[in-house]
Amino acid sequence: RAKDLGGGHIQFYSSEFARDQKKRMELATRLNKAVEKDEFVLFYQPVVDLLTGRIVGAEALIRWQTGQELVSPGEFIPLAEEIGLILPIGNWIVKEACRQISKWGEAGVSLPTISINISARQLWHGDIVTLIQKVTKEQNIQSGSLELEITESSVMKEPLRMESMLKTLHEKGFNFALDDFGTGYSSLLRLKHLPIGKLKVDKSFVDGAPGAYDNESLVKAIVQLSQNLGIDAQAEGIETVEQWQFLREVGCRYGQGYYFSPAVSAQEIEEMVRLGRRWFL
Ligand code: C2E
Ligand code: MG
Ligand code: MG
Ligand code: MG
Repeated sequence: RAKDLGGGHIQFYSSEFARDQKKRMELATRLNKAVEKDEFVLFYQPVVDLLTGRIVGAEALIRWQTGQELVSPGEFIPLAEEIGLILPIGNWIVKEACRQISKWGEAGVSLPTISINISARQLWHGDIVTLIQKVTKEQNIQSGSLELEITESSVMKEPLRMESMLKTLHEKGFNFALDDFGTGYSSLLRLKHLPIGKLKVDKSFVDGAPGAYDNESLVKAIVQLSQNLGIDAQAEGIETVEQWQFLREVGCRYGQGYYFSPAVSAQEIEEMVRLGRRWFL
């Protein structure tokens, strides 16, 4: 034990650190291979109009299929960001989502808006403007059918450059949503200048509402802010009918969450849309 060696806790921590590093290295190697072997798949979580209970779109969420295992993005996206692999993975996401939108369009499957998550690094270091325009043109899809989810911190860094990138895409008809809103730091003044069409109320606020006074007021404040800015509000992490009811009452128009459906395969969401899946309060 570290203590017996007389080195305080340092020994213990450093071996733990070494073990972590080793794990990270192994994961990085596997992730590199996963990119080459094309082991990723997109799942789609329905986005519901909270007034009508109907599906109006979906958020594309990546999964890593390795063997029989389906690995969640939380376990590899942060590392992929750190080691730069998010660029090839991010490119794949854009292409795959657009291919699917085009396929659904041809098959007459009505999913008006598909959202994809754009990571900070992809926004800063990737040529997202060129990529999005190129891929949507190749797949012959309308810009309005794609919504790009970005986070507060990624646009608040280098705000002027971000503003110009977002504006270029916005002028072509692409939509932006601010993901996990309320968990980061936003300058409201900057926000006003960005062509963002939607604020996504983070799950952490929705979790305690209704019931927890703080969370209730925060949700209300964010929805109010979106209304003042003249943009949409969408809640994430709706798990109960009470949350749906509450969000609807405070004027939040859109939502997603396990109460409606988790992210499912492309086939499954296609089936839901074909069957006209709908929820009632
Ligand atoms: P996010 O964009 O905020 O996505 C929402 C996450 O919450 C998803 O987890 C979704 O499955 C989960 N979720 C939705 N409804 C509920 C609910 O009612 N209860 C609970 N407990 N969870 C719910 P997921 O798919 O594991 O994704 C986690 C995060 O990983 C995403 O957060 C996003 O930041 C990132 N991510 C996912 N896919 C991509 C991607 O394609 N590209 C990038 N750059 N990041 C991605
Ligand atoms: Mg998202
Ligand atoms: Mg989110
Ligand atoms: Mg979130």
